[in-house]
Amino acid sequence: THSSESARTNGKLSMCLLTEINLEWFGNYHQPALLNVSSLRQVAEGTSISEMWQNDLRPLLIERYPGSPGSFAARQHIMQRIQRLQADWVLEVDTFLSQTPYGYRSFSNIISTLNPTAKRHLVLACHYDSKYFPHWDHRVFVGATDSAVPCAMMLELARALDKQLFSLKVSVSLLPDLSLQLIFFDGEEAFHLWSPQDSLYGSRHLASKMASTPHPPGARDTNQLHGMDLLVLLDLIGAPYPTFPNFFPNTARWFGRLEAIEHGLHELGLLKDHSSERRYFRNYGYGGVIQDDHIPFLRRGVPVLHLISSPFPEVWHTMDDNEENLDRTTIDNLNKILQVFVLEYLHL
Ligand SMILES: [Zn+2]
Repeated sequence: THSSESARTNGKLSMCLLTEINLEWFGNYHQPALLNVSSLRQVAEGTSISEMWQNDLRPLLIERYPGSPGSFAARQHIMQRIQRLQADWVLEVDTFLSQTPYGYRSFSNIISTLNPTAKRHLVLACHYDSKYFPHWDHRVFVGATDSAVPCAMMLELARALDKQLFSLKVSVSLLPDLSLQLIFFDGEEAFHLWSPQDSLYGSRHLASKMASTPHPPGARDTNQLHGMDLLVLLDLIGAPYPTFPNFFPNTARWFGRLEAIEHGLHELGLLKDHSSERRYFRNYGYGGVIQDDHIPFLRRGVPVLHLISSPFPEVWHTMDDNEENLDRTTIDNLNKILQVFVLEYLHL
């Protein structure tokens, strides 16, 4: 029959995947360990929007296009915030030159990894560059939602979950061989007009570099991209009442976890100014792909969750994408959801 035919084919396919690209196979079948009510409360209590605002976000609200003094300052800031933590983060700066409409420019991605030799990593990513705009009426473009807030959310996640992430060091020797990586891309924005050549400088460079770097170290047939279980890319976050659609069928069950976590936290009264009519995560079929830093990874087969608000914030690519127009409550709620998601994924 049709069904037994397809069952046989699926069986063959799984066997083949298991032997040939077993890292991806495990990634696809990975199950989360759901948090109980008291753990959910702990996460909600453990994250602090005021600490994030003051210590992580404010220093990033500067002009920071690639190669600018602000870019250097933002990079130092991100690395200092991570270095002071208890968890054993290994920081790498991936610096390279690339041709741009304004000649050769220097770019630097920041990669922060726990347990770099672990077979697999859950990866959270965002871009830390701001788009270059000429100053206008003494105003500069600081890209608050684009993407200072996502960077700050990742730093706050590392701070709030530091104890749990520190404990990964112990469990990695036992199994599961799964850990966490944070990537801060440079040069997401176009200098002039968005095109395949003028955009995604950092992610294009890093995806190609990771594809040619064996992983685990010394492996013959697998590279660092095979070790990326799931790439969660955050962008355009911080405006009030955002909605996040799901883009990819192959990661729909992880999107489903975000929906379920949002619902669970809501039921417990742990989200502020939140109603189910205005829920953030909405799986209403698959929209078109939005060009962003996940593209070079997606093309190479890495499973992706693209957490970008759609429609875009009203202030997108205007001088008004600044601190004044951010919504603290929304960001705080999203911090809780993201932190629960990471703990569940990593079985912490
Ligand atoms: Zn942008």
